[in-house]
Order: sequence, then C-alpha cells, then structure tokens
Amino acid sequence: MSHRAHDYRFLIQRWRAVARAAGLPLRKLATTAQHDLYYLRTKCLTASGGIYISAGIHGDEPAATEALITWAEKNVRRLHRLPLLLLPCLNPCGLINNTRVNEDGLDLNRLFHRDDQPVVSAVKQLVAPHQFAAAMMLHEDYDAQGLYLYDVARAKPYWGEALLNAARPHIAIEPRTRIDGRKIAGGIYRRRLDRRRFERMGYPEAVWFHFNHAERSLTIESPSEFALEQRVAAQVAVIEESVRLATM
Ligand SMILES: [Zn+2]
Repeated sequence: MSHRAHDYRFLIQRWRAVARAAGLPLRKLATTAQHDLYYLRTKCLTASGGIYISAGIHGDEPAATEALITWAEKNVRRLHRLPLLLLPCLNPCGLINNTRVNEDGLDLNRLFHRDDQPVVSAVKQLVAPHQFAAAMMLHEDYDAQGLYLYDVARAKPYWGEALLNAARPHIAIEPRTRIDGRKIAGGIYRRRLDRRRFERMGYPEAVWFHFNHAERSLTIESPSEFALEQRVAAQVAVIEESVRLATM
C-alpha cells in the first residue's frame, strides 16, 4: 500500500502506467493554474450503459483516489473490455493540500449547476453524449463510523445493498441512523431528490448526474478516521461489485 496518497504526481504516474499497460490513452480533461487533470475512457463504452467513476473532488478524502487507481491496477488486463469512464482526481490541489476545496477555495461538489468552472464544465462536456447505467462518486466522511452510501436511482434494481455487502469484509456498515439530520437505514440513504433544494444549496456531482446522465447515482462514503488500507480495500470492493453489476 502506498503511503503517498496525497502525492498527485505519483498518482498520475500510476495512471499513466495503467493506461499504457491497458493499451488505452490517458487523456487530458482540463488544466488548472497548477495541474493537468485526466480521464480514461475505454473503447467499449457506448452512449448508453457503462459506468462513470470519479474520485478526489474533495481532496481531504484520499481513500477515494487511492482506491480507484488500486482497482485499475488490479484489473489492468481486463480494463479494455469494460465500459468505463474513469476520472482519477477532480481536485489535485485539494488532494495535495488535504483540503475539501480547490485552489480557489471552492467546493466543486456544490457547483455542478454552473458553467463557469473549468473542471465542472470539462466533465459536463465529456459526459454529454452518455447515459450511464451508474455514476459512482467516491467520497469519505470523517464523522462516519462505518461505510455508507447515497443511492439515487431512476432504474431498478437498486445497487446499494450489493455494494455495501461486497465491502463488508473490510468495513462494517455505518451504524448511525441519522447523518446530517437525515434518516439513513442499513448504511443507505435513499430518497427522491428535490430539485429546488439543490437549486438553493448548489448541485453536487451525484445529483447532477442523476438528473442528467445516469440511471443510478451512487455516492460512497468511507469513514476517514479508519486505517487507509481498510478504506481503500472497502472502496475497491465497491468498485468491483459495481462493475460486476453493470456488465452482468
Ligand atoms: Zn466528499
């Protein structure tokens, strides 16, 4: 396990190695003042179906970026056969500085309703032709006492239970029944989304995907006070299970 979870250059080196070994291009998504951002899209991803997975929009949640690259490294030989669009890190500056916000002090995960943020705009442009079977947003929560997720779906079956079960050998399911004042059961927060609420608070990536580009939108939250190895293993298991469900 790498102890360099906040080393963006090293993270991208690993992604370059994965892309090379998989015979896929690692393409530039956007450029900020200090960093280039990348994405990896497999050739068998079509306009409908497949999975979008993004990590690192919050830089102080390092198990997310670490899990996505770890999963990709483990699956390098079959990557080209899976319908995937992978976003390794949406906030490099935040990752390096261990902050939720980006270099401009902005939480990109509240700005998906706007078109004046280069990274957000680049993601929107990239996914414009797609309707994914699932969009997966990898996050962490420092108040969490176990693994939990937000599961918003327009299509059944729901995936939340299967994803948590897959991760259970590594991290138990969140025991709390309320998170940020909202009710949660068995580690799953599942409710119809109210557009007006997000118009007030700003659109998170997951909500924007739900309304525009995904049959299922899943936000995974691992407990960031737990050991990094455990959090990464749990998130890797979630990614693996989502890929299994999308390609069944
Ligand atoms: Zn987060």
